[in-house]
Amino acid sequence: MDIIVLKPGATEEELKRIVKKLEHRGLKANISKGTERTIVGVIGDTSKITEEEENAIRLMPGVEDVMRILKPYKLASRDFKSEDTTIDVMGQTIGGKKIQVIAGPCAVENKTMLMGIAEKVKDAGATFIRGGAFKPRTSPYSFQGLGEEGLKYLADVREKTGLPVVTELMDPRDIEVILKYADIIQIGARNMQNFRLLLEVGACNKPILLKRGLSATIKEWLMAAEYIMSKGNQNVILCERGIRTFETATRNTLDLSAVPVLKQLTHLPVIVDPSHAVGKLAYVAPMAKAAVAAGADGLLIEVHTNPEEALSDGEQSLKPDEFKKLMKELKPIAAAVGREI
Ligand code: PEP
Ligand code: MN
Repeated sequence: MDIIVLKPGATEEELKRIVKKLEHRGLKANISKGTERTIVGVIGDTSKITEEEENAIRLMPGVEDVMRILKPYKLASRDFKSEDTTIDVMGQTIGGKKIQVIAGPCAVENKTMLMGIAEKVKDAGATFIRGGAFKPRTSPYSFQGLGEEGLKYLADVREKTGLPVVTELMDPRDIEVILKYADIIQIGARNMQNFRLLLEVGACNKPILLKRGLSATIKEWLMAAEYIMSKGNQNVILCERGIRTFETATRNTLDLSAVPVLKQLTHLPVIVDPSHAVGKLAYVAPMAKAAVAAGADGLLIEVHTNPEEALSDGEQSLKPDEFKKLMKELKPIAAAVGREI
């Protein structure tokens, strides 16, 4: 809240009460009286003014409207920090010139399978291995993940290939075990507004990959990032993974315009997950290319050696050779937008 517009006939008494209210909150008022309207500019740190306080001022007699100039998120905002945030993980920089590619199966299913996929995606140019050990499944009867056993396999893969590990944390009760194995902690779409979980990972020192909620606006998404950052962890990577719309031809609708919008609003790195966005193999590669063209800092792509047998998300998983082909095709696109892959 930065500007308070008074009603045409607002009285001196009403104006005084508004000024008093601001002073009470440690803020100052800059009163500007025009021929028809009086406007109060609010001076001071207005970032901590809550929406409720803003609404309370809107309800005061004599007030016509309250306009916020500053964004409701601060730490995540480009206004607060103008230069791009880069995050270093085991020698890889996220948010720099190089487009980082996180690849791997939806879920860790067994050790041999994971190792096989990891070696192949690394050979094709992937820079991170992914795989869920705690899976947020729609049905309680679907495969829920291997838990710590799966995390151990991921750590084995890191040991063998040097690829840093990205894996999802669903529950604050599992944070200790995740911290033992993960290099980047993923917060899934379904948990984007699990505020207790956000605060928990905000207090740890691992980078957080924050997926966009199924029907979250960009503002809500940035407020979720702000939750994490408010606890001290500034290493947040935003991941667009499609949003729910009326369209049923794809699993979700990939909101690619979120990439340039976020680049304007925030300094945080932005990556795109075309796999969960489209949900069908045939559309993954075209949207991965479009994401790079749109300015994404990275991609998250599901790869499985045997998608027909996958315990989750087989329909959207690329086979290793398809992934390799895509990686090759991404090179000239990255170069065209001044990046490398
Ligand atoms: C995943 O990455 O496997 C996943 C479950 O993604 P999302 O939270 O975007 O659905
Ligand atoms: Mn998946």
